[in-house]
Amino acid sequence: MAKKEHRVLLGLVCTVCKSRNYNTSKNKTNIKEKLLLKKYCKHCKKRTDHKETDKLD
Ligand SMILES: [Zn+2]
Repeated sequence: MAKKEHRVLLGLVCTVCKSRNYNTSKNKTNIKEKLLLKKYCKHCKKRTDHKETDKLD
C-alpha cells in the first residue's frame, strides 16, 4: 500500500496587487509554514513577493 500523501493545491498571490498568478502544491506534513516566494507578477510588471493562499478559483 502506498502511503497517503497530504499534498495540497495552493495558489500564489501577489502581495502588492493581490492577483493570483501561480498554482503550486506542497506537502502539508513536511511544510507547515506559509510559502513566500519572489515571482514575476504580470500585473505589477516586476518581481514581487507572492504568498500562498488555499483559495482556488
Ligand atoms: Zn502584482
